[in-house]
Amino acid sequence: LDPEEFRRQGHMVVDFLADYYHNIEKYPVRSQVKPGYLRELLPESAPLKPESIEKILQDVQEEIIPGITNWQSPNFFAYFPSSGSIASFLGEMLCTGFNTVGFSWITSPAATELESIVMDWLGKMIQLPKSFLFSGGGGGVLHGSTCEAILCTVVAVREQKLSVIGRENIGKLVVYCSDQTHSSLQKSVTIAGINPKNLRPIVTTKSSNFQLSPHSLELAIVSDVKAGLIPLYLCCTVGTTSSTAVDPLGALCEIAEQYGIWVHVDAAYAGAACFCPEFRHFLDGVEGANSFSFNAHKWFLTSLECCCLWVKDPAALIKALSTNPEYLRNYFAESEQVVDYKDWQMALSRRFRALKIWLVLRSYGVTGLRDFIRGHVKMAKHFEGLIATDKRFEVVFPRNFALVCFRVSPLVIPRDKDVNEFNRHLLESVNASGDAFMTHAVVGGVYVIRLAVGATLTEYRHIDKAFRLVQEHANVLLCVY
Ligand code: PLP
Repeated sequence: LDPEEFRRQGHMVVDFLADYYHNIEKYPVRSQVKPGYLRELLPESAPLKPESIEKILQDVQEEIIPGITNWQSPNFFAYFPSSGSIASFLGEMLCTGFNTVGFSWITSPAATELESIVMDWLGKMIQLPKSFLFSGGGGGVLHGSTCEAILCTVVAVREQKLSVIGRENIGKLVVYCSDQTHSSLQKSVTIAGINPKNLRPIVTTKSSNFQLSPHSLELAIVSDVKAGLIPLYLCCTVGTTSSTAVDPLGALCEIAEQYGIWVHVDAAYAGAACFCPEFRHFLDGVEGANSFSFNAHKWFLTSLECCCLWVKDPAALIKALSTNPEYLRNYFAESEQVVDYKDWQMALSRRFRALKIWLVLRSYGVTGLRDFIRGHVKMAKHFEGLIATDKRFEVVFPRNFALVCFRVSPLVIPRDKDVNEFNRHLLESVNASGDAFMTHAVVGGVYVIRLAVGATLTEYRHIDKAFRLVQEHANVLLCVY
């Protein structure tokens, strides 16, 4: 790794990316390539001889970029955002530049200590109860994804419970959620060896805005206990993936407590909004939970992958996940004065993720981050206002954050046609244009188009353009329907 060559090539890549961002609106938002396109372009085997960075970057431009769906485009409104920033990019560069493997304190004390510090900073910023912070006996850790965070917490409480009831009773453990909970819970349950039939996705309804009902939860628990099963884990969501519904944490945690259930609060997307005082009430009741996570890599100006997980009882995680082979033993680990994050996650190897969060927090400050979120929420409100100007459209669910769920109203679709199908065609038509990218959800049988404002470069003019685009495509479809 020659420093001068690194400087030369590094500058070229930064220039390349700066040009990419300059031109980003020229690219179709959703990639327009066909499956297998890249195999047709690339050679069948790796090159025998070294190639120049100039040639490689030319191929990135010509062969890779066409196959990129441009999540950083200001016209990207799909799924949930992946908001990038210069600060986070530079943090990533530092992380990759140092390329440390911070699994134990000794393998890079700064990596461990900075992670614990930023997790406490973030925890205070979002007003988590002290019991989630290191100073209150809990603590935070950076995982790659919510899926990993949920899996680790499920395994932690599974081990806790099995140590009491006996390993042979694993088939009796039950996990609760709503039918709106992200599929990562289902995956975690499977990986954790819990009987998939013992996952209870409790049905939600439109009348309760697709929130998990405490009453329905209790009925399910009582019925399971009567059947000789053992309640283990409840996953509540603040900001569901389909419609950003918010489960009533306080009431759910109270019930869970009565049955000794571990409560995890998944705020993968909406957690970012809760850093603003006006949205913090959505987390009311989190003090009754055992763990809480949000994805900084969604709507917090931090690049992938970065899920912030806090637990009240780190010992539960450590007991379930720690391994201590001879080759990893060291004085500091044995002194029990340090955090060894290898015991808080699945993998041994781990990146110095805290650097990018630290750079984001310092570069924006609390006020800058709040303004960023508020800007998007205002733009989402603006989009709702535009929808209201055209009676052919309707907003389907109340908007909590910066996601608008809308559709062409059944009133304007011919009676013999299926309204869900119409909206599906409309969305495909909009996305095929490459001018914007939105995705869909089906909630309570209703197909909705989701417009999630959250890309860092999005401005009001992009929202106006998105609405015009939807109108134009609806005009064409309504003529042929
Ligand atoms: N939970 C919720 C509510 C989500 O919306 C998502 C993704 O959008 C996830 C979990 C999954 O997050 P990850 O991809 O980090 O595992």
